[in-house]
Amino acid sequence: MKVCIKEDRCQGHARCVYFAPDVFEIDDEGYSSVNVDHEDVPAELQAGVRKAAANCPELAIEISE
Ligand code: SF4
Repeated sequence: MKVCIKEDRCQGHARCVYFAPDVFEIDDEGYSSVNVDHEDVPAELQAGVRKAAANCPELAIEISE
């Protein structure tokens, strides 16, 4: 699984960080980014990333398998 944030959509709610704190982080400007170590999401973190994508109010999280 690969994951990325559509920067033009992210509004900085940080719900993604709540569901997958090892994968998403809030940058200095308050927007989410993907931790570079986890752009290729390990199996044990994939459920959290799916929950984050489902709960992102801006549909800013893009997953590809
Ligand atoms: S929940 Fe969505 S909109 Fe909010 S910070 Fe995360 S990616 Fe951005």
